[in-house]
Amino acid sequence: MAKRVGIVGGGVYGLSIAYYLSEFGDDDLEITAFERGALASETTGYSAGIVRHHYTNRVQIETAIRGRELLEGFESVAGGDGGFRQNGYLVLTDADGVDEFRALVDRQRRAGLEVDLVEATDLESFLPGIDPAGVALGAYEPQAGFADPYLVATDYATGARENGVEIRTATPVTDLVTDGTAVTAVETSEGREPVDIVVNAAGPWGREIASMAGVDVPLEWYESKVAVLRGDEPYGVETPTLSDHSESPDMYLKPEPGGDVLVGGIDRPPVDRAAGLQGVDESFLRAVGDRLDSRLPTFADAAVVDSWSGVISVTPDSHQIVGVPTGVDNLYNALGGSGHGFKEAPAFGESIALSILGEDPRIDLEAYRLERFADGDALSGVSEKSYGGDE
Ligand SMILES: Cc1cc2nc3c(=O)[nH]c(=O)nc-3n(C[C@H](O)[C@H](O)[C@H](O)COP(=O)(O)OP(=O)(O)OC[C@H]3O[C@@H](n4cnc5c(N)ncnc54)[C@H](O)[C@@H]3O)c2cc1C
Repeated sequence: MAKRVGIVGGGVYGLSIAYYLSEFGDDDLEITAFERGALASETTGYSAGIVRHHYTNRVQIETAIRGRELLEGFESVAGGDGGFRQNGYLVLTDADGVDEFRALVDRQRRAGLEVDLVEATDLESFLPGIDPAGVALGAYEPQAGFADPYLVATDYATGARENGVEIRTATPVTDLVTDGTAVTAVETSEGREPVDIVVNAAGPWGREIASMAGVDVPLEWYESKVAVLRGDEPYGVETPTLSDHSESPDMYLKPEPGGDVLVGGIDRPPVDRAAGLQGVDESFLRAVGDRLDSRLPTFADAAVVDSWSGVISVTPDSHQIVGVPTGVDNLYNALGGSGHGFKEAPAFGESIALSILGEDPRIDLEAYRLERFADGDALSGVSEKSYGGDE
């Protein structure tokens, strides 16, 4: 009998899982993705798309490497390149962070990454106009880059459709029907769809979807804000992405195709769901200007040409929750990418698809199981050190 897979969510997680399932699975797999709005219209559509590997945790470094490898070779997915550009990534620390920073770079190298340590006096050769004051050490990853999250998600959708996946937009999932141990059907605005397997890739709404099957997923909302600036001189597309953790607040800069620069990482307040998002206001833009004034003064007075904010979904250890929870046999969660989940989505999509098909995943999915919190096995990393955080 054909296996019917229902996927909830048309962001980069749901669509990458749909694509890899349709690539690896047999013809009798019937895959349907349900998106309540338009594809990539929530967190994925707001993402800065930075692809880097500077993380504290070994598992996350390996996941980020696999994600980047898949984005590098993205043309094989429906012919789109996903907007991937390999501009490199430069990260800075102050004197207090140097020991941890060196240990992290050693860990990255052991995982097979190319990483160079950069003295403060050499920063100018990576980023013209940079003021090195307060920087004790930098690290440069030449294999890092950025991609266009909207293109990546919609290219996955195109590839999945070509492989026979049905993608239904404007179709909210309103309930999951269970028989006590498994989900038997997905209830949507268009009616009931029987399923053998259901994937919960509903992003910030993953908690609500899981609760429909009686599963409690700890997922909080935070708001990530960015602004796009246009300086007198372009921030070239080959210029490295900068992540500055050498002074507070943290800040990242990423080139936009066309010479603008995207600035973020400065403000990430928790979201009061009843009140909604704060949005980008004058105080955020002032903080951007002040931060640039000290680190990249040539952009301090640059014109703000765009700005936005989006919800990021954050778990207690800031790492994803992936896999089948205890008590429900056929529900696959793929949630909680926080402010770093885009780059890892292709790696999760590939490995979750393999796991659903009963094959060995390429990355360590077990480390991301929901039960790790109760087992005292939470992952270290993102929330511990500021320079392991967003993007
Ligand atoms: C401003 C910003 C900057 C970021 N920058 C980076 C970065 O530089 N690098 C990086 O790696 N990551 C970054 N991230 C994080 C990254 O974008 C996310 O981790 C990733 O996009 C999450 O994708 P998702 O598919 O889980 O969620 P989403 O894209 O939110 O997709 C979930 C989908 O589920 C749908 N849905 C919800 N409920 C239902 C329902 N009941 N029925 C049907 N559909 C439903 C939603 O409409 C939505 O489209 C950033 C995020 C933000 C907001």
